[in-house]
Amino acid sequence: MINKERKKQPGEIEIHIEDVEIIMGDDFIHLDRLLNNVYCSHCKNSYNGTIENYKIYLNKLDDIIFVGQCTECKERVARYIETGETISKAEIARHVRTIKKEFKTIKKKK
Ligand SMILES: [Zn+2]
Repeated sequence: MINKERKKQPGEIEIHIEDVEIIMGDDFIHLDRLLNNVYCSHCKNSYNGTIENYKIYLNKLDDIIFVGQCTECKERVARYIETGETISKAEIARHVRTIKKEFKTIKKKK
């Protein structure tokens, strides 16, 4: 059985598409292509799948993970976008993480 609710991994934070745009910079224009080249283990579609209804996470390696469902079969699929390898992108990713953490702290104080 496939567990549809993916548990957040340690060190992961949820981010939004605006954060992805900041982290990816110029590569953001390729995002559509990346999200339309998703492998679904159910459809066995050789990376022709599309991901929809996704949530976005930043993992502790500063890679971006889109977790959503396959448009064809609605099973859960995930797409990793590595940013940890590029120094500038990784720095931005860390910056976004810091901002998110501060934001959380501010919310808690209220
Ligand atoms: Zn599928």
